[in-house]
Amino acid sequence: MAQRLYSLEFFPPRTPEGVEKLRAARRQLGQLKPAFCSVTFGAGGSTREGTLETVLEIRREGVAAAPHISCIGSTRENVVAVLDQYRNHGIRHLVALRGDMPSGTVDAGEFRYANELVTFIRETTGDWFHIDVAAYPEMHPQADSPERDLENFRRKVDAGANAAITQYFFNADAYFRFVDECESAGIRVPIVPGIMPIASAAKLARFSDACGAEIPRWIRRRLEGYGDDVASIRAFGLDVVTDLCAKLVSRGAPGLHFYTLNQAALTTTIWHRLGL
Ligand SMILES: Cc1cc2nc3c(=O)[nH]c(=O)nc-3n(C[C@H](O)[C@H](O)[C@H](O)COP(=O)(O)OP(=O)(O)OC[C@H]3O[C@@H](n4cnc5c(N)ncnc54)[C@H](O)[C@@H]3O)c2cc1C
Repeated sequence: MAQRLYSLEFFPPRTPEGVEKLRAARRQLGQLKPAFCSVTFGAGGSTREGTLETVLEIRREGVAAAPHISCIGSTRENVVAVLDQYRNHGIRHLVALRGDMPSGTVDAGEFRYANELVTFIRETTGDWFHIDVAAYPEMHPQADSPERDLENFRRKVDAGANAAITQYFFNADAYFRFVDECESAGIRVPIVPGIMPIASAAKLARFSDACGAEIPRWIRRRLEGYGDDVASIRAFGLDVVTDLCAKLVSRGAPGLHFYTLNQAALTTTIWHRLGL
């Protein structure tokens, strides 16, 4: 098996304090020697410049960095401008996504789905970029069925994606089943599990509702039971997520991608407990 890749994800901070906090988090996380760090694009009102600036800062710290690029609401011209900017900076690794329309907006722009973005990137830039795309072991919330979602995932791989990073999940079986189904369907790219450390019960519930990730009942009820006891929530979350990661790695996952939410402590503890 190829070497496993352990990577981290950040979002571009929107305030000077956020920039400082992220720098401090990166000083700690950089010691883990991640394979690369990715930086989200356009999510939560962040700007395209924020993504690029954060990527360039990470690179200056000696760590490989990959910007995300999303296409919903964009024109071909906008996407070309972003790709040119990335290329001019020598960036060769992207995470390509559809993105989500802000509520109330109806114009999808010139790209409807991520497979169209991947096709366009390959048409305009050939093999310059290594392209990761998103995958959903528990099914994307807007998909008609798991079978359709798998077909749509295949379109992204057929369009030229090199690898995938999954939405987070807490049920390892959903991931292994998805990987098996891809294998049976002849979809052969590494599918790296996305890992969400648990810092807050309320935040986790909010994110999970929005992105369709299931919090198993036994985890939800435990978290609810801890109420405002943050230390117990974090201790329980660390146990649950470390066990999940250990299971994923021991059963052959090609790496782990941590959604750090720009915080160092939980990811660092999980990383050390796993002995990565
Ligand atoms: C690892 C990761 C990183 C992310 N980073 C960001 C980020 O930086 N910025 C951001 O805004 N969002 C980000 N997201 C969220 C992502 O944009 C949303 O989950 C979005 O709803 C779907 O994006 P996608 O690229 O998976 O879309 P797609 O692959 O286009 O899929 C979206 C939906 O459309 C369906 N579909 C796909 N193709 C077709 C087709 N040809 N015909 C009919 N139906 C189709 C799929 O089944 C699915 O239900 C990220 C998600 C993940 C997992």
